[in-house]
Parts: sequence; structure tokens; C-alpha cells
Amino acid sequence: MSLTEIVKPLLSWYRTNARDLPWRQEVSPYHVWVSEIMLQQTRVEAVKGYFSRFTEVLPDLASLAACSEQQLLKLWEGLGYYNRVRNLQKAAQVVMERHAGSLPASYEALLELPGIGPYTAGAIASIAFGIPVPAVDGNVLRVMARLTADASDIAEQRVKRLAEDKVREMIPQDNAGMFTQALMELGAVVCLPNGAPLCEQCPLSVFCEGRKQGIAQELPVKSAKKPRRIEDRTVLLLVHDRRVAIRRRDGKGLLAGLWEFPTVLGELTGTQAIPTVRELGLEPLRIQAIGRSKHIFTHIEWQMSGLLATVEQMGSDDALVWADVQQLREEYPLPSAFRAYLGYFFEKTPFI
Ligand code: SF4
Repeated sequence: MSLTEIVKPLLSWYRTNARDLPWRQEVSPYHVWVSEIMLQQTRVEAVKGYFSRFTEVLPDLASLAACSEQQLLKLWEGLGYYNRVRNLQKAAQVVMERHAGSLPASYEALLELPGIGPYTAGAIASIAFGIPVPAVDGNVLRVMARLTADASDIAEQRVKRLAEDKVREMIPQDNAGMFTQALMELGAVVCLPNGAPLCEQCPLSVFCEGRKQGIAQELPVKSAKKPRRIEDRTVLLLVHDRRVAIRRRDGKGLLAGLWEFPTVLGELTGTQAIPTVRELGLEPLRIQAIGRSKHIFTHIEWQMSGLLATVEQMGSDDALVWADVQQLREEYPLPSAFRAYLGYFFEKTPFI
């Protein structure tokens, strides 16, 4: 079979089956870009609300370029991978300076912007500008591997480039945007990951070599990643007068520049934590354990144990900000790694 044969049935399937997603309601380069960055490593369902709120507060590139870092991070709070939003803003500032405030209608020029790699450049160029260039993400790699019964390791760059070449050959010159979206959509809702393709609902089933050979479920092949490093951490909720201490993380590394509850490496008991609390210039009145929680990052996993320490007074350490419930809800961006302890503080504040 020639791969171009799939174009027509795929497009006609997409016309009647495309999901109604917020970023598809009013297609603009800005909307495509913001949604594509949000969707990296994040589920569609989780992104919907974030996208609507983000584009309501920052309706265009100019407002994104001018937004304060704190507000920006607050809008992204809970989405994770915060470098995505930092790069989004850096790129917006570059576009304001070099491209008169409009995203460039060129794959190569898009690729030069911070945070935009081949996939995102391809997605923006094809969906927003109709340029026939491929946008190959995990969904598309999976569909291509199954369609062509290709058992190459999709973790390899070489395999990804070959998939891009195949997609490039298929793209209809006059309907690149719809084709890109249709291929992604098929991977997202029909040709599902983890061995569960819904082949009986698939508009491409008669063309699919993986299905014909009975190996679709085992594809794509992807070599295992290195196991994550496990890190034990103690999270300190230092409270006084219905306020809790937070501090800003370093400007570099994991969760750079975000706010956190003070944490220390290792799992401390209440007694072991007393010197740590004192090092912060605070005198603990009582300390109690408030449970465990874990958070998985790309290369690391935090196994956290929480301690609630009521302290005598707020102390004079400038690095600590004593935030109340409202400030935590509206002002300070705390990453979702701390969600369990933030929830604990919200729930228990009236009693502490
Ligand atoms: Fe995927 Fe099945 Fe469709 Fe092949 S027939 S593309 S395996 S859903």
C-alpha cells in the first residue's frame, strides 16, 4: 500500500470525529502554540481548564511577553515542567522584538524560538499556517509504527526522522493543518497506547500492516528508560498564627524559582527536625507527623514525609514568606509536588 492512500479516509474521519477542544474553537497561531506547549507531557483533559484561563488572562502574545513572572507561574501552577512557560514568555519577547509581535509563518524561523523544537514548529507551521511540514509526537510515532508494522525502536532519533520523512510524503499540500491534527487525533482516541488500539473503529484498518500481521498491540517498540532516582525528603509546614512559611527555590535546576515549603533531604522524625527548624531562626513549640506523599519528576522521584511544626513567632529570616490561605490560593505559585501538604494546610488552618 502507498501511504498516501490513508489521507482521504483519515481526513473524512477527522471531519466527523474531531473532539471539540478549547484551542480548536478559535484557531490562531498564538492559540496553537500555547496549547501545544501545554500538551507536552500533559493530558488533554488536564490542559483544557489551564488553556482557557491562560488565554483569558493573557489573550495575545503582547500580554504574554509583558506578564510578571509570578503571575505567569501562577497561571501554570500544577501543570509542571515550568521551563515550558518560561520559554513561552522568552519566545514571546523575541517575537515582539524581531517579528513585530506575530509568530513567523516559517518552520525554520519558528524553530529558532526558545522552547520550540521540531514537533512544535511543525504543529504551529502546519495547523496555524497550512505549511506542509510534519509534526511527529509520540501519538504519531505510534500510529506510523503500527500502520507500517515497523518494529524499530522509537526512542532512537534516527527512527523518528524516518517517521517524519514518511509523514512529509503524505501531507496534502492544500490541507496540511487538518492532516496534522487528524493524525494526532487518531493516535489520541483510536490508536491508543499501551497495547490497546481500537482497530474496529479505525478508518485506516484496511491499510494497517500492524493489524493485518496481528502485531499492532506489540508496537511501537521503545527501549526502557533509566530508572528514576528515589530521593527521601522531609517537608516542613512551619506555622504561626494561621500562616505558613514558604520560600523561593533556586533559580536553577528542578522547580527553579518556584515557591516551596522548606524541605530537607532525608526522612526526619519530629525530634530530628528540631535543629533544622532552629537553623531557620524559629523556635518549635510542637511538631507532628502529617503523612507521606510522593511526586514523580522525569528523572527523579520524591518520597516525602511531612512535619507540621507550630513555631513561637515568625522569626526574621528574609528568605521566608509567611503566607495565609488566600495568598497561597491567589498569589504564590507552588508546584503540584506539594499538593498534599498544601491541601492539609488549607483544611487544617482554622485549627492551627
Ligand atoms: Fe492503529 Fe489499529 Fe488503526 Fe492500525 S488499525 S492504525 S493499529 S487503530
